[in-house]
Amino acid sequence: MMSSYLENVLASLREAAFAVQLDADTLAILSTPHREIHARLFVRMDDGALREIPAYRVQWNNARGPYKGGIRFHERVDLDEVRALACAMMIKCALAGIPFGGGKGGAAIDGKALSSTEKEALTRAFVRAFADVIGPSKDVPAPDVNTDAAVMDWFADEYARIAGQNAPAVVTGKSLAAGGSQGRSTATGTGVFLVFDALRPLLGLDNETITVAVQGFGNAGQEVALQFFRHGYRVIAVSDSHGAMHEEQGIDVPSLIAHKNVSGSVKGFSGARPFDPAGIFALPCGVLVPAALENQITEENAQAVQAKVVLEAANGPTTREADVLLRKAGVHVIPDVLANAGGVVVSFFEWLQNMEGERWSEERVHERLEATMRSAATDLFTFASSRNLPFRIAAYALALERVAAAEQERRSRAAS
Ligand code: GLU
Repeated sequence: MMSSYLENVLASLREAAFAVQLDADTLAILSTPHREIHARLFVRMDDGALREIPAYRVQWNNARGPYKGGIRFHERVDLDEVRALACAMMIKCALAGIPFGGGKGGAAIDGKALSSTEKEALTRAFVRAFADVIGPSKDVPAPDVNTDAAVMDWFADEYARIAGQNAPAVVTGKSLAAGGSQGRSTATGTGVFLVFDALRPLLGLDNETITVAVQGFGNAGQEVALQFFRHGYRVIAVSDSHGAMHEEQGIDVPSLIAHKNVSGSVKGFSGARPFDPAGIFALPCGVLVPAALENQITEENAQAVQAKVVLEAANGPTTREADVLLRKAGVHVIPDVLANAGGVVVSFFEWLQNMEGERWSEERVHERLEATMRSAATDLFTFASSRNLPFRIAAYALALERVAAAEQERRSRAAS
C-alpha cells in the first residue's frame, strides 16, 4: 500500500535525525505535535441547509517562534493530512531561517464548490472555533489550497471582532487594503523559480535547453509557469483537475492563465493540444513541477518520469517509494520544504510589516525574497553535498538542527 503523507514526513524526519545524530528525546518531541484541535463547524449553505464541517488546527512546534502555516478548504482534509502539513511547516520555516514554528489547519469541504457567501460563513466559523489558540504571537494562519486573500481578509476581520481590536498580524496573505504585503500572492511561485535558478548551475544544467511541465494550475502552478515563461523557458505542458494541454513549441502562459480565469480550467485552450492528465509525469521534459496536492508521484508512475529535475511546488507531491525510484534514476528532487518556502517567507515579511506598522515596496519584498531563497538553496546544496545526503533528507536535517537548538534552549531555561 502507498505510504501516507504523514508517514512520508515522519520517515524523512527520522532519517534526517539519524544523519545529524539527534538525541532520542529531542526526536520524540519534534515528531509529535504540541496540540491538535478538532472542531465541528456549522455553516448555513445557500440552499438553506445547515452543514456540519470538520475542521482542524494542528500546532506542531513553536520553539523558533509562533506556529505558522496555512488553512486549506478541501474535501480530502483530515487530521493526518493536517499533521503532516504542520510538521512540514516547522521544517520549512527553520530551513528558510524565518522565526516561526510549524502549524496547519483545514476544513474538510470542497472550497471550489462554495459560493462566496458560503466561503465567508465558513471562514468566520473557523475563526470563532479557533480564536483562543491563534494570535499574532501565538499562531498565524495563511492561505493554502482553495483559500486566498479574500478568505484571509474575512479571517482578520472576524478575529478583530472577537479580540475587540485590530490585529492584522494574526493572519498573512491578506489583500493590500487589509494590510497584506506586496508580492505575497505571487511569492510561492516566484520562490519556486528562484530556487531552481539558484540550483541550476550547481546541478550542472547550465548548458542545456530546459523545458518545463507543470501539474496543477492553481495559485502556485500559475505563477511558476509564468516565471519560467518570462525567463525564456519553454513551458510545454500544463494540467489541472479538469484536463491537460501540451505544446512542444511552448505554451503562451499569460494567455493560458487568461483562459483559465474565464473558463475555470486549462481545458479547451486553443494554443495547445489536449492530452491525458495522467500522462504529464511521463512527458520528456527538463523540469517537472508538481503543483497540486500530495502523493501524486508514486511507485506507479515514478519510473516513467523522464525529467532531470522534479521541483516540488506542492506540499508532499512525491511518496517515499517514488523518492527512492527517482533517486535511483538520477532525477534531482528539489523538496517542497525548500522549493515552495517563498510563500511563508513573504508571509513573514507581511507579519513584520504589520507588527512594526511598516509598508514595504514591491522591490524591497522581492529583493529580500530573492536573497532568502537563493541562500536557502545554496546552503542546502552545500550541506547535502558535504554529507552526501539526498536533498530532502538534507533539508530536514539542516532544519532539525536549528529547531533542536531552540528546543533544547527552551528546555534548559525551563529546568533552571
Ligand atoms: N500554505 C503555504 C505553505 O504551505 C504558506 C504558509 C504561510 O504563509 O504561512 O507554505
